[in-house]
Amino acid sequence: MKVNQAELMISAVSQEQYPQNGLPEIALAGRSNVGKSSFINTLLTRKNLAYTSSKPGKTQTLNFYDVEGRYIFVDVPGYGYAKVSKSERAAWGRMMETYFSTRDTLRGVVMIVDVRHLPSSEDVQMYKYLKHFDLPIVIIATKADKVTKNKRPRHMKQIKETLEMDKKDSIVLFSAETGHGKEDSWKAIKNLV
Ligand code: GDP
Repeated sequence: MKVNQAELMISAVSQEQYPQNGLPEIALAGRSNVGKSSFINTLLTRKNLAYTSSKPGKTQTLNFYDVEGRYIFVDVPGYGYAKVSKSERAAWGRMMETYFSTRDTLRGVVMIVDVRHLPSSEDVQMYKYLKHFDLPIVIIATKADKVTKNKRPRHMKQIKETLEMDKKDSIVLFSAETGHGKEDSWKAIKNLV
């Protein structure tokens, strides 16, 4: 487990535990190991914020983070981890369904994909699943530092096509390694709010 600086409000399993302060909320989703914690940590550089990533095998929770008393970021447990049992997968599904279908303060979702690869079938499924709740989505194509500059536009285009991205949704190229795309990511998130 990685422990960084953080202001975790609560790790919630059930709906009764969700914070009730009415702040606009952004959920962050992505397959396990895609770079979601690195993305969040790059965005939240202030010392009063800390972030702990939950790794496979740990209890699956929705982690609610207070961001400057202005927003809530909700770290959704990663999907696509092969070693998860059937019952754990089912519990994850129920937790997602409850959260996404009931959370009134949820403004949109940031979904992280790896810019090096075509989105997996699980990524495509997740995108479609989120769209069925009518949520605006920002796609963060991370690990940009691993792809040469001239190849990046083609990868971005292929990601858009594979996800069959809604024209209203945006995609941002990002790297936690170099900080590339940090400002654009914030802009896209603020647009959701
Ligand atoms: P999570 O499981 O989605 O939270 O993924 P992590 O943020 O823990 O990252 C998984 C692995 O990818 C770690 O080894 C990170 O150092 C690496 N990683 C994450 N973001 C980047 C990036 O932008 N560039 C590079 N080169 N590696 C990254």
